[in-house]
Amino acid sequence: MSDCLFCKIIAGEIPSNKIYEDEDVFAFHDIEAQAPHHFLVIPKIHISTLNDADDAHLLGKLTLTASKIAKDLGFADDGYRVAMNCNEQGGQSVYHIHLHCLGGRQLKWPPG
Ligand code: AMP
Ligand code: ZN
Repeated sequence: MSDCLFCKIIAGEIPSNKIYEDEDVFAFHDIEAQAPHHFLVIPKIHISTLNDADDAHLLGKLTLTASKIAKDLGFADDGYRVAMNCNEQGGQSVYHIHLHCLGGRQLKWPPG
């Protein structure tokens, strides 16, 4: 999608601090980290919100990619959180689905 920030990051038109990429997904550090570790995992195809998603394999791959990266970065055993915000009341600000992965400090629940 031509005017989507995350599609532009995938295309390399906007720089990012990339962690991982394969044929399906792309992962990069969040520009406004809310924890010592905070990265995003996104599908390479444009999907605006979780309400628009129907590919269970792709959604599962986002989660397993977050887990793999948390292990590779060394904070998986201490713990982490994965979350996807949907629409306004869910706190979504970028309308290309993304899984947040946060770790490196004690996280509180509920997040607010
Ligand atoms: P959400 O509020 O769930 O839509 O999350 C969007 C996330 O994207 C926020 O945590 C932002 O800090 C992050 N973000 C926005 N622009 C960029 C960017 N250019 N590079 C990396 N992360 C970004
Ligand atoms: Zn997009």
